[in-house]
Amino acid sequence: MPIRGRSQWPKVNPGFDMIPPKLTKSAGRPRTRRIRNYTEGGTGRKHKCKRCGALGHLRKTCKEPEIESDADRDATPPPR
Ligand SMILES: [Zn+2]
Repeated sequence: MPIRGRSQWPKVNPGFDMIPPKLTKSAGRPRTRRIRNYTEGGTGRKHKCKRCGALGHLRKTCKEPEIESDADRDATPPPR
């Protein structure tokens, strides 16, 4: 028979007081809660476009024409 609720949990007495663990600060730098706006400056790191490699914009907002780097690979894939 499956347990359907908390009331059906078996009562356990471990023999000592169950104390919830204290929330301790985790090691390392705390995570930044929110993403900074452009105008805030932030880390000063610019986005680097993965498409054209230019700084200041992302691949999503890239307006540069895509670099064709098909020099070292064939245009037609080999048949499987
Ligand atoms: Zn770009």
